[in-house]
Amino acid sequence: MTTRKIDTASAPLPAAAHEQRRVTLFYDDRVLQHHPDVGAAFLPGRLDRRVRELLGGSGLKWAYPEHPGRVRAVLDALEHAAVPGLHFQAGRAATLTELGRVHTASFLDTITGLRGQNAWVDVDTTAVSPGSLEAAMVAAGTATAAVEAVVRGETRSSFALVRPPGHHAEPTRARGFCLFNNVAVAAAHAQAELGCNRVLIIDWDAHHGNGTQEIFFADPDVMLFDTHRSAPFYPGSGNLAEVGAGLGEGTIVNVPLPAGAGDAALISAFNDILVPAADWFQPDLVLVSAGFDAHQFDLALNATFAGFGALTGVVQGIADRHCEGRLTFVLEGGYHLEALAGGVRTVLEVLAGAPPPIPRECGLQEVSEAAAFHLPGFAQD
Ligand SMILES: [Zn+2]
Repeated sequence: MTTRKIDTASAPLPAAAHEQRRVTLFYDDRVLQHHPDVGAAFLPGRLDRRVRELLGGSGLKWAYPEHPGRVRAVLDALEHAAVPGLHFQAGRAATLTELGRVHTASFLDTITGLRGQNAWVDVDTTAVSPGSLEAAMVAAGTATAAVEAVVRGETRSSFALVRPPGHHAEPTRARGFCLFNNVAVAAAHAQAELGCNRVLIIDWDAHHGNGTQEIFFADPDVMLFDTHRSAPFYPGSGNLAEVGAGLGEGTIVNVPLPAGAGDAALISAFNDILVPAADWFQPDLVLVSAGFDAHQFDLALNATFAGFGALTGVVQGIADRHCEGRLTFVLEGGYHLEALAGGVRTVLEVLAGAPPPIPRECGLQEVSEAAAFHLPGFAQD
């Protein structure tokens, strides 16, 4: 693995043929059972005191931003206007064996001991409510089921509509609203049980996927490509120099971006860095940690719906080229409900076979029309 060189002269991918494709959305309403309520009584102790001080000191009324309304907004949007070719399938709970491939036994003991409780689990305001453990096990299991269906050829691609999200969860630490690392559990399952040798994880959430990076930092058989807003933006990791270690050196590919970065920067990162990296790595399964907080409504970065659609087209091209289209999306962040629902919808439309949209700078079409209107008046004989 370490002898391979990234081929920067890689040819651009051919435009995919846009036939109707089977895409399956995996959903299990037990993920709604995770709903920390800041007004409830939490387990007393050091974390409770510190978080209360933090929240009290802000002077703002704070509600847990990662709430059940996020997935409801997506389901409502899909019910309001169906995506042609989209199928629905139930999820399942992950087993402790599946979770134990990426989390330590002591962490799993601790977190399962919080079943039925309200408790802070990290000072960064990550918490559990009485139903959180089951929701988190279902989130990881549903991501895993979505991968199983793709690898077994039951669907061309899949989307796991799950929460709590996962990419900040580390082997021994829940953080960033994440309890278990859903995409990592799914990737490890694909390797352990489904015959996949090399798994490519693409993380386009606006925040760096620190947990996924830590889990696979020295693993030569899992590549993580991660675009995100650069440190000190949360969680503060994801610098260029973090490239993996040991036998896995070169399989962590971080692209930190400034706050104003939008469609053009993201699409360039995907075409100019991810595509040759994937050609080098030759994945037999592609997973996407799909957060929609990179959308301009969520303020962290400046992507649009068309941008998410274009990125989906690039990712789909990679999966078609290397692994017969095997592609699973797993929901991560995204806290503006309109941006989240519209973003998921755009991804599903492209996965189902719609041509990827071409992002255009807002207003250029109107300027062109205005020019056609005005310029004849300025013509000189
Ligand atoms: Zn995020």
